[in-house]
Amino acid sequence: MNTEKYDDVVSACRFCFMCRHLDTVGNVTYQEADTPRGRALILDKVRIGKENLKNPDYIETMYRSALSAACRFHCVSHYDEAGLVLAARRDIVEAGLEPEKVKMLAAELKSDAGVKIEGDSGEVIYHVDSLTASKQPEIAEAFKHILDEAGISYRILTGDTGKALLTLGYEDAARLIAEKLCNAVAKSGCKTLVISCPASFDALKNDYPHLGAAFTPKTRILHSSEFMLELLENGKLKQKPKKMNKAYYLESDFLKRYNQLGDVQCKLLKKIGLAVVKFGTNSEESYAVGEGAVVYDRLQPEILKLLCSRIVGLADCPDTDVLVTASPYAKYALKTFSGKTLNLISIEEAVAARYSRRKSFRTRLSVKDCIA
Ligand code: SF4
Repeated sequence: MNTEKYDDVVSACRFCFMCRHLDTVGNVTYQEADTPRGRALILDKVRIGKENLKNPDYIETMYRSALSAACRFHCVSHYDEAGLVLAARRDIVEAGLEPEKVKMLAAELKSDAGVKIEGDSGEVIYHVDSLTASKQPEIAEAFKHILDEAGISYRILTGDTGKALLTLGYEDAARLIAEKLCNAVAKSGCKTLVISCPASFDALKNDYPHLGAAFTPKTRILHSSEFMLELLENGKLKQKPKKMNKAYYLESDFLKRYNQLGDVQCKLLKKIGLAVVKFGTNSEESYAVGEGAVVYDRLQPEILKLLCSRIVGLADCPDTDVLVTASPYAKYALKTFSGKTLNLISIEEAVAARYSRRKSFRTRLSVKDCIA
């Protein structure tokens, strides 16, 4: 079983309370099962008797986790509680025990996995994730505009990275997608791959090597915030930032907790002239409303509403605060599930609004009132 590799985590977490206050879901459901300790106790029972994996409540608990990895990140011994849940999901799928809603979502994801590269020249490939392409084209628009401003030619890569399938427990299906995407990028000859979606970034950077679908060593994989910071530091974006305005930054689980890139986004936002305030009451909790679970909006919409309400409740002034996120998923989830009209923009939109010379572009972004 995949969970056997996490025996040390089960043994450590099952009797430990130390990080329970950081479980994103536990903080809104108030259930002990929705903490690393609760999940480890469940998987300890499965360790003692494999037939316990068939328990539908246990299975549902594994699919309720938001996988923020805040507990792992702040655990003094960094026990991989998030890896344990992912392993349990693989065990569930391999045993054919996944809930119907998971099966249906996986079938949809498998049928929608086409990889396409548009353009035949350009030193950079920009990957546009499915959620951005279908629901939030303004994020990709903003980034393309930044590339134009910096005089960089680029190609566009669309299609799923397999991250959602992998997170649901479908490793073989994710591997097939990973191989296709790697082959398409290798064929293009591009050496720099830039991605706005932190989940897709994490897939390419960390999951693909494990799936046997690694890029050539010369391929640079960068999150869009890293790339934009490079453009500013190399002087490729020339216009000076205007006066300082306050903006709250909502950290990304994948960038901060899975890839230790949490400082890059604040550095970038400060460089464009924003007075950045980290969101929330503390720097340990996740405010990314289920980003780590990738398709949490499809899997647990009712819990997602609670997560979004918590964010609205924590905002000083939810109607007027400027919120910035580096996660297209978090932007979509908060705009769709919070029941509030939030001044929430992506990090690409924030940079584009600062550096665009085209007034019409800023107006199209509708953020001039927020930060200009
Ligand atoms: S992740 Fe660390 S702090 Fe959290 S329950 Fe496990 S051992 Fe305790």
